[in-house]
Amino acid sequence: MILKVLLTAGVIALVWFVARSRGRIDPIKAARDAARAVSEAQAARNPSRSPPPAKIEDLVKCPKCGAYGPQGRPCGCEKA
Ligand SMILES: [Zn+2]
Repeated sequence: MILKVLLTAGVIALVWFVARSRGRIDPIKAARDAARAVSEAQAARNPSRSPPPAKIEDLVKCPKCGAYGPQGRPCGCEKA
């Protein structure tokens, strides 16, 4: 009788330990997945916050002053 109670208590403790250790890992993973989903949804809703890589222009060195600026646009030193 006592052995049966101890066995039941042991099984309950084992289940509790497994549930607790799972509960420790899963919320972090769930939070990470949720954060990723939220950031992806925000990026899809707000494209201006994270501009696409295609919009990034190559910088070219000005032969006169050595300053780097966007290609095809006159350097500030030429305006003066
Ligand atoms: Zn220049």
